[in-house]
Amino acid sequence: MPKVNTKKVSWEEVESWSRIVSDKILESGWRPDVIIAISRGGYVPARLICDRLVVGELVSLQVSHWPSAAQIAKEAGVKYPLECDLNHKRALIVDDIADTGESIIIAKDHIWTKCKPDELRVATLQWISTSSKIKPDYYAEEVKEWVWYQYPWTRLEDIIGFFKRIVSEEKENESWDLETLAGRFPEWFGVTFDRWYYERALSYLVSTGFFVKEGDMYRRVSK
Ligand code: ADP
Repeated sequence: MPKVNTKKVSWEEVESWSRIVSDKILESGWRPDVIIAISRGGYVPARLICDRLVVGELVSLQVSHWPSAAQIAKEAGVKYPLECDLNHKRALIVDDIADTGESIIIAKDHIWTKCKPDELRVATLQWISTSSKIKPDYYAEEVKEWVWYQYPWTRLEDIIGFFKRIVSEEKENESWDLETLAGRFPEWFGVTFDRWYYERALSYLVSTGFFVKEGDMYRRVSK
């Protein structure tokens, strides 16, 4: 068993889940006039669902997480408020996954208060029913055991995070080469990626000062 239960998502799966969600919406007889993508995870699914439902209006709302004053928990909030009048419209919020459900709750509250749609529903690709405080009206998959969905739109970002995690936890190893780091992926995450991503992630981590490159080795800069 990998340390972090991870599912590497393919574009084909994204396509298929977007169709499943669109079919469920169609079968319910309800039609949105406007789709609201929660940024950033909802962008790709929202655009696909827009097309599969032939909806011409797409807006977005960024909900972000930042450290609270106590620096322990992270607080979520609307980063860029949505200024739009959705009076007389049926609106559909789209996000990739309902995990804690917090982003969706914040988005719903914001849209009801600021934009006042006639109706507001929620669609996601995944619904983690054991952790989410909210059940989306439409979803492609119910997930009962927590998994990190490694969606194609966060591939590099996640690999950067995965590298940081490995290096931070395996402290005895101060210098790493690409092969050794990449070789940790199966035991840590149960998945592997194209070399292009590993190279890009390493050069990003050098550019931000996380690593110093010495020949073929990447040495962690101690803070
Ligand atoms: P919500 O559950 O309302 O989406 P979260 O704060 O739990 O709010 O998550 C915010 C965003 O972080 C999600 O929209 C998604 O892009 C990403 N995320 C959270 N949990 C996961 C997960 N298990 N797998 C992949 N991405 C996730």
